[in-house]
Amino acid sequence: VKVLLTGGSGFIAAHIVDILLQHGFDTVVTVRSEEKGKRILDAHPDTPKEKLSYVVVEDVAKDGAFDEAVKSNPPFTYVLHTASPFHFNVADPRKDFLDPAINGTTGILKAIKAYAPTVKRVVITSSFAAIVNPKKHPKLYSEKNWNPVTWDEAMDHSNVYRASKTFAEKAAWDFVENEKPNFDIATINPPLVLGPIVHYLNSLEAINTSNQRMRDLVQGKMKDGLTPTGTFLWVDVRDVALAHVRAIEVSEAGGQRFFVTAGFYSNKALADNIRETHPDLESKLPPKDSPDDLPSDIYGIDNSRSKEVLGLKYRSLKETVSDTVTSLQAVGA
Ligand code: NDP
Repeated sequence: VKVLLTGGSGFIAAHIVDILLQHGFDTVVTVRSEEKGKRILDAHPDTPKEKLSYVVVEDVAKDGAFDEAVKSNPPFTYVLHTASPFHFNVADPRKDFLDPAINGTTGILKAIKAYAPTVKRVVITSSFAAIVNPKKHPKLYSEKNWNPVTWDEAMDHSNVYRASKTFAEKAAWDFVENEKPNFDIATINPPLVLGPIVHYLNSLEAINTSNQRMRDLVQGKMKDGLTPTGTFLWVDVRDVALAHVRAIEVSEAGGQRFFVTAGFYSNKALADNIRETHPDLESKLPPKDSPDDLPSDIYGIDNSRSKEVLGLKYRSLKETVSDTVTSLQAVGA
């Protein structure tokens, strides 16, 4: 069974590749350059060409970007769409975020409908960003909640990433409702994703956005005071990757969103876990008695669908922190 995975050079996608191969899927990744594709193949020297290969899709925002990539022989049965910008260097909200997120999502769905009739399901990496209501948290977050962000609010640079994820996911559900394609969709909605970096893709300088705080802690950048945590929910990258693969393996996953989270954390909790698992780093860490910004009256979360339908069992913060730090040390931290 053959799967197309977009954004193959990404942090989450790299872990998805490993799980797809372990579960016996033939995998084709899209990447933005030959060089990135070769790096992925070089990191899997024992995997034959028919099991893992790449196609170049330079910019998902362009019309028809996926028209060729979705054609394949043997044809694809599933598509996993992870490619979307995730960083905070906003110059132009529309060009840098909204276009690639929204057009990338609708573009791949259109291409599949037109050129890949064998595809049964498309799993889209959405985000807790498409669930959260930062101005007024509900008592309990679940798949029922939607970020109410408006197009005008999206132009504010501090909102645009979350807006891009919200509008892209909405566009996907609208596409299915309006176009009634042969396939169904499922979305995976993780909050902050932590976990081992992939050595063949990352350097300490160019580390993926969600692991930057782990790098900063390990490098002593929060020694004199913890930076505010932001969103207090996290999940391990390996659990997120497994959620994507389970979402194609489990037939009832079709037509559903999945809020995948292991629970609450704060930068203080990350520091304390590093202290425990890597005592050699003590001198880089903020003092033990640093104040914790995790509010005591925080909203609740319901991640039961991810456990019941996808069978997820979430890793603990300690395991994730330990493995992440070890992976950072392997690239020189
Ligand atoms: P990465 O930045 O590591 O991965 C993003 C991927 O998207 C990269 O492969 C990148 O390619 C590709 N991409 C971005 N813009 C374009 C474009 N215009 N054309 C083609 N490819 C593009 O981040 P993550 O792995 O963390 O993110 C993967 C997905 O998970 C995203 O959809 C993100 O929104 C979502 N997500 C991530 C969370 C997290 O905490 N990490 C939380 C919730 C959701 P290249 O490397 O070549 O730039």
